[in-house]
Amino acid sequence: MAIYDPSKRPEAAYDSHTHLNETEFSEDVPAYWARAREYRIMEMNVVGYNHVGNAQAIEIAHELEGVHAIVGFQPEDVNEVNEAEMAILRDQLNDDTVVGLGEMGLDYHWEDNPAPEVQKAAFAAQLDLARETHLPVTVHARDAFDDVYDMLKAHHVEEFGGVMHSFTGDAKEVQRFLDLGMYIGFSGMVTFKKSEDIKAALQVVPLDRILVETDAPFLAPTPMRGKMNEPMFTHYTLENMAEQLGMTYNEIAKITTDNAHRLWLDK
Ligand SMILES: [Zn+2]
Repeated sequence: MAIYDPSKRPEAAYDSHTHLNETEFSEDVPAYWARAREYRIMEMNVVGYNHVGNAQAIEIAHELEGVHAIVGFQPEDVNEVNEAEMAILRDQLNDDTVVGLGEMGLDYHWEDNPAPEVQKAAFAAQLDLARETHLPVTVHARDAFDDVYDMLKAHHVEEFGGVMHSFTGDAKEVQRFLDLGMYIGFSGMVTFKKSEDIKAALQVVPLDRILVETDAPFLAPTPMRGKMNEPMFTHYTLENMAEQLGMTYNEIAKITTDNAHRLWLDK
């Protein structure tokens, strides 16, 4: 029996990381937003990754209720980062819709990504800006947990907070990021049969640090795996997490929404 039934007006949920600013959605952003709201995904963070994506995140957040913007430079786009771009980013933080910085981090998985030293310099500049402005960071880490951990610690992330988005480590790996005060974002990957490590991590994260995300259009959860992801699919991931944690849909929806509010909105 499904835990989730939209006709019963389930608890409001919050997709903490989605990319309605990606071209896959550009034909009809309001329609994807409306579908999500039909399923009671009432809030979402549209996350930027380069100067075009950042401007679009802000524009979408202005147009649609319950949408917040996060702006920053992801590892693959850090060649864009220079003084002029950092000045634009700094300016964007004054916009009311902007609730955090990101996505930012280190990704050593792709060979054609900028060199590690270039990635680190851009990550450091954004962490400095977060510390100065006291905004939480959305962190992308792939094949780079040691360096990401060292940099978050060196930049005193516990002072401004943040989330390890679409976390892919195991129960042991997650501990040191929790010790830094980080929240942990679970994407559709936590629903995949073979994601034993991520499932184990979910079991050890304190309930007041868990977030849910789609990372749409990527990583659609079971049973939509392989399809284009969208914010509405947050409900599948929540339903699956609820089962893994022995809770109801409404309980985990409320927990993850409250956590998102505490991290990004309650200032
Ligand atoms: Zn993302």
